[in-house]
Amino acid sequence: MRTIRGPGAMAAASALWRQRGLSVGFVPTMGALHEGHVSLVRRARAENRRVAVSIFVNPAQFGPQEDYRRYPRTLPADLARCRRAGADAVFCPEAGGVYPEGFSTQVEVRGLSDRLCGRFRPGHFKGVATVVLKLLNIVRPHAAYFGEKDFQQLVVIRRMAADLDLPVRVVGCPIIRESDGLAMSSRNRYLGREERSLAPLLHGALAWGARQPRGATPAVLLAGVRKRILRVPGISIDYVSLVDGRDLTDARARADGQRLLAAVRLGGTRLIDNVEVA
Ligand code: AMP
Repeated sequence: MRTIRGPGAMAAASALWRQRGLSVGFVPTMGALHEGHVSLVRRARAENRRVAVSIFVNPAQFGPQEDYRRYPRTLPADLARCRRAGADAVFCPEAGGVYPEGFSTQVEVRGLSDRLCGRFRPGHFKGVATVVLKLLNIVRPHAAYFGEKDFQQLVVIRRMAADLDLPVRVVGCPIIRESDGLAMSSRNRYLGREERSLAPLLHGALAWGARQPRGATPAVLLAGVRKRILRVPGISIDYVSLVDGRDLTDARARADGQRLLAAVRLGGTRLIDNVEVA
C-alpha cells in the first residue's frame, strides 16, 4: 500500500490504474478511522480492482466555533487499518496542497445544503461539496463510497454528481453501529463515560420511530421521538425530522422512502444518526 501526499502523485497513480484497465474505487474520509470507515473500504475492495482512501481533515467544512483543531488525528493507526482492509493507496494531502494560495472556488448544492444539519452548520455542505469534487477530480474513480451515517451528505453528493455530470458511481453504504446501537463516529471518542452510556438512547429513540405504524402521522411520530431523546439528562436537540430520502423535504404524510434523522448535543459533542422508515 502506498501513502501519497501530493495531489499530482495521486492523480498519476490513479491514471496509471485506469490506463491498465483497472477499475478504481475511492473512499474519502477525515481519518480517525473505525469499523464504519473500514466497511466502506471493504465494499470498495469487493467491487474494484484498485482502492484509494483519502484522509484529510477538511478545514473548509468546519465552522469557526467547531472542532477542527481538536478533531482526532490518528494517522499511523489509520494507515494500518487501511492496509488491513485492502487499500492500494492512501492519499493524505496537506491543507496547502488542497487549498493552495489563491484558491477561490466553492461548490454549492443549493436547497439540500440549507436544511437539517445545514441550518446549524452554515457553510458546512459547501465545504464538503467543494472538497469532494476536488478529490473526485484528483482520483477520478469509477465508484466513490459514502456512509448513510452522514445521510444528508450522501444526498448532497449524489445531487452534485448528477448535476455536474460527474463520471462516477456514488455508492451509499449502511451505518455500522456499536453493539449497543450507537452509530460509530470519530467524534464518539469525545464522549465522557457517562455520556457514552447514554448516547445509544439516540438510536433507540429513532428505532422506536421507525417501528411506528403508518397510522401514526409525522407529527405524532416526531413528538414521540423527541420525548424519548429528551429523557437523556443534559441532551439538547438540534433537530428531529422525517424527510423524503431522495430530496430531504419534510414529510407531510407517511409514504415509502422516508428517513428519520436527528442531530443532538450531548455535553460538548454533536451526534447525528438516522434510520430508514418503512
Ligand atoms: P468522516 O471521516 O466522518 O468524514 O467519514 C468518512 C465516510 O465514512 C463518510 O462517507 C461517512 O458517512 C462514513 N462513515 C462514518 N461513520 C460511519 C458509520 N458508522 N457507518 C458507515 N459509514 C460511516
